[in-house]
Amino acid sequence: MYYVIDTSAILSGKINIAAGNLIFPESVINEIQHGNIKYLIDSMENIRVYRPEEGYLNIVKEASKKTGDYNVLSSTDMDIIALALQFNAIIITDDYAIQNVASRLKIKYSGASINEIKREIRWLYRCTGCHKIYNEDIKECPVCGHKLKRFTKKL
Ligand SMILES: [Zn+2]
Repeated sequence: MYYVIDTSAILSGKINIAAGNLIFPESVINEIQHGNIKYLIDSMENIRVYRPEEGYLNIVKEASKKTGDYNVLSSTDMDIIALALQFNAIIITDDYAIQNVASRLKIKYSGASINEIKREIRWLYRCTGCHKIYNEDIKECPVCGHKLKRFTKKL
């Protein structure tokens, strides 16, 4: 069984990474590296990194327009759903918009509390310009000056 894991689930540090074959979108790896927590990724095994095929991305885009989540999903979110579709994988995410679209496409998903570990809510902030990730809302990105957007929704 394959799992696709979103950034917030990785950041929770609570995924039992030895438990299966993990798939990460290339874009998630980039986010992680921007967030200076690349060591997390480096410490993980059984990881496959892919960029989703265009055809699957288009299916996800269409589905998200129908569910009304299109404007809420980041391109990384789209990648996550598309890869799950492509590899018939389970998505691990606490993001309601991702879950919503996954459910429309009959993709299985689970919260980050999988492996009987308690779920922890955590908000992160992504720069709308350079996409650097911050742990707190510092209003404006010190790197490029754009506004930050909160991105672990819901729960
Ligand atoms: Zn920035």
